[in-house]
Amino acid sequence: MEPFQRQLNDWFTHLHTHPEVSWEEYETTQFLIRTLTSLGLTPQPFETMTGLYVDIGEGTPRVGLRADIDALYQEVNGTFRANHSCGHDGHMTMALGVAYYFTQMKPPREAVRLIFQPAEEKGTGAKAVLQTGVIDRLDVLFGAHVRPLVELEDGQHAPAIYHGAAKQLSGRIEGKQAHGARPELGVNAIEVGAAFITALKSLWTDPNVSSSVKVTQFEAGGDATNIIPGVARFKMDARAATNEAMDDVTENVHAVARHLSALYDADITISEDVHIAAAVVDDEAKSWMARAIVDVAGEEALAPPITTPGGEDFHFYTLERPTLQATMLGLGCGVTPGLHDPLMTFNTDQLAPGALILARAMTYALDERNDEQ
Ligand SMILES: [Zn+2]
Ligand SMILES: [Zn+2]
Repeated sequence: MEPFQRQLNDWFTHLHTHPEVSWEEYETTQFLIRTLTSLGLTPQPFETMTGLYVDIGEGTPRVGLRADIDALYQEVNGTFRANHSCGHDGHMTMALGVAYYFTQMKPPREAVRLIFQPAEEKGTGAKAVLQTGVIDRLDVLFGAHVRPLVELEDGQHAPAIYHGAAKQLSGRIEGKQAHGARPELGVNAIEVGAAFITALKSLWTDPNVSSSVKVTQFEAGGDATNIIPGVARFKMDARAATNEAMDDVTENVHAVARHLSALYDADITISEDVHIAAAVVDDEAKSWMARAIVDVAGEEALAPPITTPGGEDFHFYTLERPTLQATMLGLGCGVTPGLHDPLMTFNTDQLAPGALILARAMTYALDERNDEQ
């Protein structure tokens, strides 16, 4: 493990000290290309955007690994700058470690594909990668994310991460302005908004699957307090444990808008600004990952799958390609104080076992798929 660990530390140090924000990962892409080329590989940069993919081994790859490559833009010790506080520098390092393993230690019996995806933090990178077609022929896709200490002890690893679905929606209420003395001639957008909030709370979704939708911003009325306001704008935040529950929540929002529009003779329009899909974890992929964790780090390192309300755009791959067998490794590496904290740090010694776990899981996927033929 020693030279492997040292190599990974070098890569990590470079990536950590050269962070770039979503869609601007130019130097990062160049560094990954140089490094993969030095391993004897032929990386393929995406033509219209940052990021790349690389195939290792003979034939058409059916097993893949995705690593995200972007940093966040945030205030660090008084200065705004790009900063790797979500551990994507570690994810890239592990994917490079997988490339090192399959080129320098043990060639895969069939081709595998590594995908270095831009712009995870914007929630738009996975969709863009899907459009390039590099996922189309894959049967299996693995991912990884470092986990905060509150979720996993340092050295404990989980074979799946159940992220929830998240949506941000905007609403606009078009009522009718009127003089404050003549409310009967207007349609008060604030009153319609109040009814909207109440109605949302009274619609049920399956109580066995957690979900919520709430209004998080509301604007209406101007300086004059003697005018019935005709227009209101509001924002909503929706969360759900599954994509089906998110569909139900979204339908409720639209149903309330439809019915209140009719009831109040107002025009309520809803738009969906941001959507992050919930995790769809494949049982077989999860079992390959669990066995890989035990192989590399021992029985006592295997933690149960994690359920977390955070979002992750990895799950767009399974939303768009439902037959894809996918899971994400939750790497316990003592992330403190937490993800996205400007001073976030973690134990980088876990990157080497993390890379070996991912390579092992990919090997299981290759082996067991071959056995099925
Ligand atoms: Zn993040
Ligand atoms: Zn992240």
